[in-house]
Amino acid sequence: MEAFSNARGAEIVSNLIRAIQENKHYLSEIDGAAGDGDHGINMNKGFTMCYDELRSSPGNLAHGLKTLSRVLVMNIGGAMGPLYGGFFRAMARTCDGVERIDEGVFGAMLRAGEEAIRQVGGAEVGDKTMLDSLVPAVQAFTSAVAAGSGFAEALEAMKAAAIQGRDSTRDMIARIGRASQLGDRSRGLLDAGATSCCLILGSMADSVSRLISQEPGG
Ligand code: ADP
Ligand code: MG
Repeated sequence: MEAFSNARGAEIVSNLIRAIQENKHYLSEIDGAAGDGDHGINMNKGFTMCYDELRSSPGNLAHGLKTLSRVLVMNIGGAMGPLYGGFFRAMARTCDGVERIDEGVFGAMLRAGEEAIRQVGGAEVGDKTMLDSLVPAVQAFTSAVAAGSGFAEALEAMKAAAIQGRDSTRDMIARIGRASQLGDRSRGLLDAGATSCCLILGSMADSVSRLISQEPGG
């Protein structure tokens, strides 16, 4: 059974923070084409505040995700605070108290995160939001596990589906959020939230794959 420990999972959150910091300009550039250009700034601010907080009070994966959620909800502007805040809180709650995280637990974390974003934002697939990366990615992970793939293989499927989902937003017309004000002119542009969500899922997939390869036999 492939799995990783909640204790070592803290590095998943550190790697996520680094991925956002390294891509802040790119994310704002994408948001600038269809929105107000603050997505990278908002995300970088929240994730960097989380870095500072975790440095003084480190913990396991559940703690890192919980801290990230709290910092995002309390400190970042725009649509992202409540949406990603809800996402990471739901993931944290699902793995809280679980010592070893296998594909079953990780799948439940993803599904809880997706549900939180749906509840908070009320968007659907096709509205040109972060859900267009997330929903197919969660679906791909869940289907791969159900079909008997191992954890690492399911993570690869998740990552590929997130990229495909992100790219699918280019042909969509935004129906929700600030970009919806552009109407037809939003077509041809990637969605900023779908891009950050793809980045987050890709970073998580890489971190988890590394962790499970370091803990052979689970
Ligand atoms: P703002 O739109 O307030 O400037 P950001 O620029 O940080 O906030 O984030 C914009 C992203 O938020 C969009 O690209 C979209 O993916 C996502 N988004 C906006 N509204 C929703 C919603 N109701 N549900 C899911 N995602 C949403
Ligand atoms: Mg914006």
